[in-house]
This record gives sequence, structure tokens and C-alpha cells, in this order.
Amino acid sequence: MTFKNTLEFAQQLDAEDVLSHYREEFHYPQVNGKDVIYFTGNSLGLQPKRSQKFVDEVMKDWRELAVEGHFYADKPWWDYHERLAEGLSKVVGAKPEEVSVMNTLTVNLHLLMVSFYRPTAKRFKIICEEKAFPSDQYMLQSQVRFHGLNPNEAIVELKKRDGEHSWRTQDIVQTIEEVGEELALVLMGGVNYYNGQVLDMKAITEAGKSVGAFVGWDLAHAVGNVKLQLHGWGADFAAWCSYKYMNSGPGNASGIFVHEKYLGQKDIPRFEGWWGTKKETRFLMEPEFDPIASADAWQLSNPPILSLAPYLASLELFDEVGMATLIEKQQKIVAYLEFILHEIDKQVESSFEIITPKDRGCQLSVFLHGEGRPLFDYLMKNGVITDWREPNVIRLAPAPFYCSFEDMYNFGQILKRGILQK
Ligand SMILES: *Cc1c(COP(=O)(O)O)cnc(C)c1O
Repeated sequence: MTFKNTLEFAQQLDAEDVLSHYREEFHYPQVNGKDVIYFTGNSLGLQPKRSQKFVDEVMKDWRELAVEGHFYADKPWWDYHERLAEGLSKVVGAKPEEVSVMNTLTVNLHLLMVSFYRPTAKRFKIICEEKAFPSDQYMLQSQVRFHGLNPNEAIVELKKRDGEHSWRTQDIVQTIEEVGEELALVLMGGVNYYNGQVLDMKAITEAGKSVGAFVGWDLAHAVGNVKLQLHGWGADFAAWCSYKYMNSGPGNASGIFVHEKYLGQKDIPRFEGWWGTKKETRFLMEPEFDPIASADAWQLSNPPILSLAPYLASLELFDEVGMATLIEKQQKIVAYLEFILHEIDKQVESSFEIITPKDRGCQLSVFLHGEGRPLFDYLMKNGVITDWREPNVIRLAPAPFYCSFEDMYNFGQILKRGILQK
């Protein structure tokens, strides 16, 4: 498709967009009395309007039923979390019994490593990407030290080639093969938070499995963003947060995936709690743990219902629309944003370098050569919510649920004014 950098053209794309009416499903922050152009759905998604109703419902049940709400609320709390499994399984390409919702992301990665990082004298290494998200680095290092090992020896970081901004799948696969029999675990971000690259999760999972390692994915930037087929790829486990592209609310509950082949096992190493044992016998308060035959076996505590309520509301939206439709719009709006950036680039002296490769989801990471923090501040003051990473990189993630093509056009105009006014 040939794009045009005009308001009319952008509005025409919006008129053709089957998701355009979903804008009304979300609340927008206001700057200068207008809805902002929101590029940070990769950090915290906007609030779906319907989440209020779901939260109010729990508050009402608690107010009117108190403890009886566990069993007699319209959506009883004792199995409330099960309502999320079906919708989530579609988002991540899994069977409903392979997913669960609990805790927060870093906590869940730690818990899953209890099951899937079991170093031996020979097989103890972990492969991850260089400059992984800091929480993941701390998590991996502390796990390694917990097992009495040295992070410098146990953690193998995948480097990019000199002068390149993204990883090459062949290099990743080669490293996996080289580490070979020493490799205990591959654990990486499926979509990199910095450059927005979508890794070839299928090929990497296969490579890791073929040398006998466990393979897990941190899907913080992937869930609700790109097509996932965790079950089909044969990943052992995965975890994600829900407050980025999933729009469930700040710091909200994380999801996990555990491959079907590990479900229902009593002897798998795992930290356990009462919400992981079978419902039928849970309240007999017997001493023996009888794992639920689903990923729920990894749950420890009774879940925070007030957090699950907005997550359920958000999943309803994903269920209505489906990942395929979301991704279709995403590809188009990101391509349009890329086009707008190139157009503005021609009209100003500073130059933009998109460091996100073609294997991408929602995010474009852009090096603004010749620019600095003042431009970022100008954008924010003029209603463009984005984020700035050293050195001079802005990350732009136009989430297909609530960003419009007109937003992309308007962003281009604001960006140009911000650069020219210097
Ligand atoms: C956002 C993000 C996290 C956040 O972790 P929390 O435990 O939810 O605070 C972790 N890892 C990656 C890769 C992320 O992008």
C-alpha cells in the first residue's frame, strides 16, 4: 500500500479500520484538554472502561456477602482465576490447562526456575540475551548464586554482531549448540524490550530442546502483541505481566504457561501452597499435596480477586477481537508510523534511525541522532506520551486497540515542530 502523509489519508485509514470503535472502550489521559497520543502501551496499557464494572462487582460482593463471596458471589472467588484461563490460552497459543494467573512476573520466573533450572555438575549453564531487562538479569544471577554457582561461569549472554542492533537467529542457535550438553536452560525475552525485536521463538525453542535443555520465555513484551504458539513450539514454560499490552492495570497479576507434559506430576520440584492442591480435597486440610492437573498447581495463595477483576475485563476485549485482527491492524499502523518517520526525516536536519528489525510487533525503537532530552520533553508537553532511553532512543508502541492512524499523522506534525523550534 502507498501511504500519504496527510490528515485526510490518515482519517481514511481510520474509516477503514475495523477496530476504530474500540477507542471508545478506553480512558485517555488529557493534555491541553485533548486525548493524548499514547505510545507507551508497552509499559502500561490504557484503562479499559469496562474494568470499572468488574472491580465494582467484586467490591459489592465483598460488601454484601463478605466471606460468603468465596462461594456465593456471581463470580465466586474460590475459582475466579479459572475464568481467565480460556481467554489467556488463546492469546498465548496454549491449552487452557497450561495457563494460570498468579503473583507478578519476576516472582513467577523465580518459581518456574525452581522447576526448570536444576543444574548438575555437568549441565548448569543458562543462555539469555545480552542486556536483558534488569529484573531478569537479577533473577538469573540470584538463582545461579542460590545453587552455589558463579554467574560469570553459568550465564552465557547472547551478543549482537558489532554494529548491529538486533540478534540473528543463526547466531543464537549456534551458541545453543556450542554450549550443548552444558546447557541447562534457555530463558529469554520473546520480544526484546529495548529494540522491539521479535525473536524466532519457534527455532530457538527447538534448538534448546534438541540439546536437552529446558526452554522458557519471558513474554512481558510479547503477550497481547505478537502471535504466540507456546504449546505447539514445545516451550517448557513461560511467564508474562499483564499491565503492558494486556491493559490489566498497574503492577497487576502475571500469567504463566507450563507445558502439558509437566502437569499432574507429584514429583516435579516446585514450591507449593494450598491453592495448587486439588479443589475437591483442599478444604479437608489434609497434609498431602495433590497437585491440580493444570498450571494452577504452581499457585501458592488464594488469588487477589480485586486484581483479577480488571484482568478479566481486559481479556474480554481480547476475546471479542482476537489476536489475528489485532495483529493485522498493528502491522499496518506500525508500517504507517515508520512511513511518517521517514517523511519527517526528509524535512528536518536531524536524522532518525529505526533500530527495530523487520521481525517486529507493536514497537519501533528510534535513535534520534542530533536530538536530546528537550525534544522528548516537547513531545510530552504536547500530548505525545512516549519514553526515552539513553542514548537518544524513543520507543513508540502504537497499540492497535486504542491508537489511530490520525494519531500517527498528528505525532509526525508535533515531532517536526519540536525539532524545528530549536
Ligand atoms: C516489564 C518487564 C518485567 C517487569 O517485571 P515485574 O516483575 O512485573 O515488575 C520483567 N521482564 C521484562 C522483560 C519486562 O519487560
